[in-house]
Amino acid sequence: MDKKRSKSIVRAGYYFIITNFLLGIFNIIVGILSGSVAITSDATHSFIDSISGFLVIISEKISSHDKYSKKRDQIERFTTILIAIIIVATGVHFLIESIEGIIESESADYDTPTIIIVIIGFLAKLALTLYLRNSGKKHHSKVLLASALETFNDALISLAVIISIIVSLIWHINIEGYIGIIISVIILKIGLEFIFPHISHHHHHPLETNPDHDHCGKHDQSNP
Ligand SMILES: [Zn+2]
Repeated sequence: MDKKRSKSIVRAGYYFIITNFLLGIFNIIVGILSGSVAITSDATHSFIDSISGFLVIISEKISSHDKYSKKRDQIERFTTILIAIIIVATGVHFLIESIEGIIESESADYDTPTIIIVIIGFLAKLALTLYLRNSGKKHHSKVLLASALETFNDALISLAVIISIIVSLIWHINIEGYIGIIISVIILKIGLEFIFPHISHHHHHPLETNPDHDHCGKHDQSNP
């Protein structure tokens, strides 16, 4: 087994854990200070992501073990499905939150700490996405590419909030719920395509590291 590759994947897993853990702590502090439920709920999500980072490390540790090297593909597939389930759960949760926001017609008042945390969160998630994506492509790791996509979806959610903030500052209307619905549908589509790649067989699967690789399975990862 390629030790260097394995080390890089585990390192990316740690970066994933640390970034999300720090975002979680940061969100909790600002959430308590500002009393924002949305930020506190974002903190919970970051902690869940942080825990899911251990999936990346555990799956890599197991599949790089000589004893399980033949099951490598299966272990990686299993881990990406777990990450996809987190993506779908995020989409469902955000969809419900957005609909609730519309029904309760929450007024849009964003205080400065909220705006700052959302922007910092967005930039951190974007940086983490790029890092995981590059690392995943370099090492042909579907698990890392799945984490990159999960992080990208979280960045999309932050982006939705940023757009809502800008719109509310200029036009004094709250579009967070509506833009939230659009983003959650996109996230649900991404998550479901992950779990059922054959639905979207006509176009490229988001996890594909090798365009010649067929979806249906027999693919030898041990080739150099
Ligand atoms: Zn997430």
